[in-house]
Amino acid sequence: MQRIAIIGGGITGITSAYALAKRGFEVTVFEKHRYAAMETSFANGGQLSASNAEVWNHWPTVLKGLRWMLKSDAPLLVNPRPSWHKLSWFAEFIAAIPRYADNTTETTRLAIAAREHLFQWAKDEQIDFDLKQQGILHIYRDKAGFDHATRVSQLLAKGGLERRSVTPDEMRAIEPTLAGSYYGGFYTESDATGDIHKYTNGLAQAAAKRGVQLNYGHHIDDIGADEHGAWVSAKVDNSSMSQRFDSVVVCAGTGSRAIAAKLGDRVNIYPVKGYSITVQLDDEASQQAAPTVSLLDDETKLVTSRLGLNRFRVAGTAEFNGANRDIRNDRIQPLVRWVEECFPGVSTQRVVPWAGLRPMLPNMLPKVGPGRLPTVFYNTGHGHLGWTLSAITAEMLADAVEEKNILREPAPQPLS
Ligand SMILES: Cc1cc2nc3c(=O)[nH]c(=O)nc-3n(C[C@H](O)[C@H](O)[C@H](O)COP(=O)(O)OP(=O)(O)OC[C@H]3O[C@@H](n4cnc5c(N)ncnc54)[C@H](O)[C@@H]3O)c2cc1C
Repeated sequence: MQRIAIIGGGITGITSAYALAKRGFEVTVFEKHRYAAMETSFANGGQLSASNAEVWNHWPTVLKGLRWMLKSDAPLLVNPRPSWHKLSWFAEFIAAIPRYADNTTETTRLAIAAREHLFQWAKDEQIDFDLKQQGILHIYRDKAGFDHATRVSQLLAKGGLERRSVTPDEMRAIEPTLAGSYYGGFYTESDATGDIHKYTNGLAQAAAKRGVQLNYGHHIDDIGADEHGAWVSAKVDNSSMSQRFDSVVVCAGTGSRAIAAKLGDRVNIYPVKGYSITVQLDDEASQQAAPTVSLLDDETKLVTSRLGLNRFRVAGTAEFNGANRDIRNDRIQPLVRWVEECFPGVSTQRVVPWAGLRPMLPNMLPKVGPGRLPTVFYNTGHGHLGWTLSAITAEMLADAVEEKNILREPAPQPLS
């Protein structure tokens, strides 16, 4: 049986482990934290959103971003201090602009294909992850935003997504708790929301039952590979261990770039920081006043999801400031104010803030498949849509591993 090491126990690592175990591979996951999904897959926006498949490589988005850079509470913040990593990332981001339409359509196609696997796995393994299948409503305050969304809808439709424009009255009928005045909206009935942390942990348990070895508390500090196999070296408490495998799969989120470099590959992931707040709906009035339909406010770039009866998650903003995870109050306050304006009946007395780093590639498509060596694979760089896309990219990764392994002999037995 082929032995596979997976680096990372976020949503991409755990879905990869599950998909590979189902196909008969012997899988070991290495995760530096004590539990699965403690980094970017911890408290994200919750949206399973084919309707948010538009990539950001678009001149109007770049120009809007430049204007936002002058406002401290804008959804985008860029630390002006140059670094080679940031500059090379932005250069490649700009170079991907001609692929805007194709990449948006391709992302839509992947997001739709992911649903089938993600929901089936949850059903098979009885994972409760606060799934809500009430669609996603995009809201617009002006004609310009709405007109842009009309054009995006055509790209999404090419990828197979049906979403319809709705009037302000229809918006109120879809989500009666939403306050404020709007120019119009777009509603995608087939989109959904759920808790990524609960799902990842539920699937990790299911993977373990299928024989996956979950090595938590293992920090991979060195790694190597050749044509015949791969080895990993990990720090565990105060000791270290190393082990050989037939292949390695890199799913290390924002850590993937450094690991890829050791394996001879360039995977130019930049950590794009975002924030979320989880509003605790402790009283019945707040529970009634909070939305159940998921929203995406395109102007403020905020997304929402209702997680069970008593949690309301709001997430967004993009910060280019390296691997900085600080939770800044001036970035959290606009999220709280947005809740107070759009849902005035919701109490914001108890709000849990969080910051996470999106592992983003410049063309905004994930890297899935083999690296330079036949023993090295990637399923990483899912940016703002890792929750939405992970189930299909795990299947694609498993296809790639299966294909390569048909032709190869197993590596020699472990060193330790
Ligand atoms: C504010 C915000 C809102 C978002 N909202 C949405 C949304 O609504 N819908 C959506 O689809 N996506 C959303 N996303 C994106 C999504 O959350 C991410 O794409 C996804 O969680 C990335 O998963 P991952 O497995 O690649 O990374 P991670 O979850 O970060 O997992 C990588 C793991 O690798 C481990 N690791 C790294 N290096 C090592 C090492 N050397 N040794 C051992 N372990 C290592 C880390 O500890 C980590 O657990 C959002 C992101 C943010 C920040």
